[in-house]
Order: sequence, then structure tokens, then C-alpha cells
Amino acid sequence: KLEYAFIGRSNVGKSSLINMLCNHKGLAKTSATPGKTLLINHFIINNEWYLVDLPGYGFAKRSKTVQKQLEQMIAGYILQRPQLANVFVLIDVRHEQQKIDREFVDWLGESNIPFCIVFTKADKLGPVKARMNAQKWMQALEDRWEELPPYFITSSEKKMGRDEVLDYIDEINKSLSE
Ligand code: GDP
Repeated sequence: KLEYAFIGRSNVGKSSLINMLCNHKGLAKTSATPGKTLLINHFIINNEWYLVDLPGYGFAKRSKTVQKQLEQMIAGYILQRPQLANVFVLIDVRHEQQKIDREFVDWLGESNIPFCIVFTKADKLGPVKARMNAQKWMQALEDRWEELPPYFITSSEKKMGRDEVLDYIDEINKSLSE
């Protein structure tokens, strides 16, 4: 079965997004204290594919050693997983492009890992401003990458973008199983 991994900085809204996608409150733990997940969790969806919850990166309060170990674990998983179909990189739609996200996205591209961007917390800005910010974030990739990855604008609070993300996964599932 194919795997779809979700990753982003601590507190980006990953647990909330996973719960929205799974329609399940409390499946992935949401928390006000970021940086807690240190494990790679697999959720089987419809007996068809695995949703993979990767630990958040760039959590300043972790020790350097723990941070390094985490990065190695994440990189190891991503590079050595033939069944990994796509990585969803979560970005808070309110944020400008930050170094840690840019480096991670560049690393995925250089490693030829298929990925797309999921902007989170769109309700905090409203639809128009959210779309503007997302476009600006994507444009900042353009000087380094000829081809831009797909992106989604979501709000777990408002259940927005759920179908788009799930349809995209469906499409990949179909195209890879042909
Ligand atoms: P994680 O650390 O990336 O797993 O982030 P969480 O899902 O635990 O969310 C971090 C914080 O952001 C929590 O306080 C959530 O309630 C809040 N949050 C997550 N998604 C949304 C959203 O779509 N809209 C709003 N307004 N808040 C959100």
C-alpha cells in the first residue's frame, strides 16, 4: 500500500489537518505544547493507503542532539521508502517563506521526492488574503525551481480543502496502481 507523508514545522496545524482528513477527532493529538511527536505514526485509510504523520521539524526548544537525530530519522524514512507516493509539506498560510521550510522543500526537490504544499489555517486570514499569501509563497520558489509543485489552501477549523487533498491522493493512487 502506498504511503502519503505529512510534515511541517511544529504547531503548523498538522494534527488538526490529519484529523480533518480522517474525519476523526483525537486520532492525531493536537496540542498547545508543540514538538511532542517524536515518532512516525502510520494511519491506514479505507484499507487503501497509509497516512504517515512525520515529526515536526524546526522546534527551537529541542536540544541540538535530539533535533539532529530527528532530522536523520525523517530523511532516512523519506529517502528509503519505495512505497512513499507523496510528501505533503505544511505551511502556515500567514507566514512568509522561512529558511527552514525553503531548505526542506529544496532538499525534497533535489532528492526527486514528489511533494506538494498544504497551506494551513486559512480561516485566520480569510479566503482572499489566504490565496494572495499562498501565491506569494509559491512565487518565492520560482527563482529556484522551473516547475512548481501543486498546492492546497486548507483550514481544519472550517473543514476547507479536505476534498481537494483527498482527491489528489486518489488520483496518485490510481495513476500508480495502473
Ligand atoms: P501540530 O503541532 O502541527 O500538530 O499543530 P496542531 O494541529 O496541534 O495545531 C496547533 C494549534 O493551531 C492548535 O492550537 C490548533 O487549534 C490551531 N489550529 C490548527 N489548525 C487550525 C486551523 O485550521 N484554523 C485555526 N484557526 N487554528 C488552527
